[in-house]
Amino acid sequence: MNNTRFARKRISVAMVTFAATASTLAATTLVAPDAHAAPRTASLAGKTVFLDPGHQGSAAGNRLNAQVPDGRGGKKDCQTTGATGVNGVPEHTVNWQIAQLVKAGLESQGAKVVLSRPDDTGWGGCVDKRAAAASRSGAAVAVSLHADSTSTGADATNKGFHIIVPTLPIPDATVNRVQSGAGRTASTAMRDALVGAGLSPANYGGVTDGLQTRSDIAAVNLTKVPVVFIEMGNLSNPAEAAALTSKEGQLKYALAITDGITRYVTKSGNKVVSTAASKTPAMDTTAMDTPALKTPDTTPVSTGNPPDPTTPAADDDNPFTGLRSVLPFVEKVMAADDTSEIIKLLTTDGSDVFSDVLKAMLEVVYGLAGGKLPI
Ligand SMILES: [Zn+2]
Repeated sequence: MNNTRFARKRISVAMVTFAATASTLAATTLVAPDAHAAPRTASLAGKTVFLDPGHQGSAAGNRLNAQVPDGRGGKKDCQTTGATGVNGVPEHTVNWQIAQLVKAGLESQGAKVVLSRPDDTGWGGCVDKRAAAASRSGAAVAVSLHADSTSTGADATNKGFHIIVPTLPIPDATVNRVQSGAGRTASTAMRDALVGAGLSPANYGGVTDGLQTRSDIAAVNLTKVPVVFIEMGNLSNPAEAAALTSKEGQLKYALAITDGITRYVTKSGNKVVSTAASKTPAMDTTAMDTPALKTPDTTPVSTGNPPDPTTPAADDDNPFTGLRSVLPFVEKVMAADDTSEIIKLLTTDGSDVFSDVLKAMLEVVYGLAGGKLPI
């Protein structure tokens, strides 16, 4: 129970980034006017996104240690059970619940979402089968959601998110081309979106600028559409476990992930190559740029040292910039004792895309809570 309070406090501090917007919110204005907000559009219409909530609720008679191709010429276990949070919540449930929110957010913009598993109670398939399903889906991007564990007990030191990118080259030529180009672009777009939402890159595991390079992730080695493989946080860290399992924390992660997906998908569908005019690369050119991460705020939130609101890490060159205006509402709404605030938010005809996304996610939150919207 202390965890919930801790999570709220932690998120409050992280939200300082957005305090300039939040502090101006009048009670009567639940959808902040944003001069830069995009007009309401179904920006993902016609796009497919594959979501893979890592692990599964049950092995259901399947052998987790059955050997399957690892995409590097070897074999590995079909699946693992996943981590368990220091607060007792299993990773597969965290992955599932946040995936449901992301799914709702993407669908609210017109995307078709394909899930790797149908529920959080049964079997979800071996890693190679999930990779094959992602490839078959023809998705613009496949996103695997995971949460890490660094200790069987509490670990207050290791924290933050990371995105796993593959050691190159990958043996399969198609996979290598896709993951070294578009996959890398999608991964860095996601990293930037998470940083832009106030989440800190991991301070452990050899993570550099939020990215960790590994060769053993079959979901990446075998998938022929661009993959983003996210370790959202460390479930051994009490504060992160609380955030990853609280409603407001899950909303924040889901909004950031939805932002990352949308940034990538909309950019990749409408790419403007502004440099190296003589070059006409066959694939995604932004992958070659690999710009250095722009001063990410890695200050641990627990130090009380707030992020500098004047230097947001996320770029603003994408029309989908509503995240900043809507994040303060997450805490506001979830903390609301008076449900009239929630009603007002849900019935306000917001002007930016993210108000639609948040509304769709809130529908899921209240569904997951076992109740209907408090209207
Ligand atoms: Zn996992």
